[in-house]
Amino acid sequence: MPDSTNQIAPTNVRTRFAPSPTGLMHVGGVRTALFAWLVARQAKGQFILRLEDTDKKREVAGSAEHLMNSLKALNLNYDEGPDIGGPFGPYRQSDRLDIYRSWAQRLIDSGRAYADPYTADELQDFRNQAKADKQAFLYRNHRPQNPPVWDGTTPLRFKSDPHAYAWHDAVMGSLSSGPEVIDDFILIKSDGYPTYNFAHIVDDAEMKITHVIRGQEFIASQPNYLNLYDALGLTYPVFATMPHIMGESGTKKLGKRDGAKDVLDYIHDGYIPEALINFIASLGWNDGTEQEVFTINELVEKFSLARVQRSGARFDEQRLLWLNGQQIRLLNIDDLEKRVANFWPEVAKSADNAYRRRVLELAQDRLKTLADLPALTSYFFSEPTVNRELITTNKQLAKLSSEEVSQLLGATADKLNTLADWNPESIQQALNALLDQTGTKPGILFSLVRIATTWAPFSPQLNDTLALLGRELTLSRLNLANQQSLQ
Ligand code: GLU
Repeated sequence: MPDSTNQIAPTNVRTRFAPSPTGLMHVGGVRTALFAWLVARQAKGQFILRLEDTDKKREVAGSAEHLMNSLKALNLNYDEGPDIGGPFGPYRQSDRLDIYRSWAQRLIDSGRAYADPYTADELQDFRNQAKADKQAFLYRNHRPQNPPVWDGTTPLRFKSDPHAYAWHDAVMGSLSSGPEVIDDFILIKSDGYPTYNFAHIVDDAEMKITHVIRGQEFIASQPNYLNLYDALGLTYPVFATMPHIMGESGTKKLGKRDGAKDVLDYIHDGYIPEALINFIASLGWNDGTEQEVFTINELVEKFSLARVQRSGARFDEQRLLWLNGQQIRLLNIDDLEKRVANFWPEVAKSADNAYRRRVLELAQDRLKTLADLPALTSYFFSEPTVNRELITTNKQLAKLSSEEVSQLLGATADKLNTLADWNPESIQQALNALLDQTGTKPGILFSLVRIATTWAPFSPQLNDTLALLGRELTLSRLNLANQQSLQ
């Protein structure tokens, strides 16, 4: 029984991401791409993008561009690919039909491929018969004695050599199968295009791919692939099968309704690539420690296929949001400034650059997504609309009477008015003194002052916010809120 001795440790690591342009780039696809990218980058090898567009019926216009744009948006740069070429191109399968033809010819010449002579009805009859006999349908049980010469108008089938296999999967471990799963599958369809089953093996060999990293949907066909590798005299690459990604509940495979959007939508909604990468890397992988926030460089250094778990990974969007906030805090201010260019509220666009940058410095700690910027900063650039609901729906503040609200706001304005210096430290001291003076808890006084000066659901640290707003605006807002609280 052939076993994993046929798999040798590769020296120049070459991995590939081989999507079919049949739709948008979802989390599962990104994860496959990311893991293949990490393996290549860690080994200082190459990461290749190959478009598997041989199923013309399923192809979606614009999908190939979308896939490439998504990889670029995530900084998963590839060394060879359809738009940049490379030494083993073309990298779009529909441009490689001659190559598949010549490999098919090799199999025909060695007696390992034959023309499928049956009509669709005849095949269906075989299937029905197998069902009636309670047998699994195997095409090879009907292998024609004298197949016609293949002229390209009928499918070309692989003449399999069924036997048991044992092989190693870098994630799933030792796997094995019996001969009954091996059949004469189609190599080239009657439309002239190769099947995935054939094309990917030819391409992986031609492109010198050392690691085949892909989703679980292909694992059942693995014995058939091994049989074809053998027939072609090819060495097996390293196989690594990814676990499924499960929805929030952890019990069902992640579906379209689970909130998992297409990658470019996340970027558009203010998620940064570092967070998406960190989050997606953690879908099925950890480094064995409690560490949750990883930079790209740390991932490149620490990632290992051996630590990818076998069971499904849970997609938790709250975790992604949390990681996004963490990753935003890791950015230096120049970098953050560039990234938020399209997220500023309209009112901020005409503001002084230096002032805007100081607002951003303050907001950085509170941003969960870049799209939070308007809610978190508009009041630095224009007068906020008084929204008393923020007080009445606030658990702590709802208990205060209008008079109490008014007294607290009045006392705060008086105190701040007397400050000789207007800076975060002096403001903090004044606020602390007010706590004693009024006998109020920070949760009440600070929340009230925060709301009365920003009218926003959340804002940066209070003393910093007031310092940047300036004395004049702070006092006028406190006074305005005071008047309104008595109405
Ligand atoms: N074209 C296949 C897909 O999109 C790729 C599988 C593989 O990576 O070999 O699912």
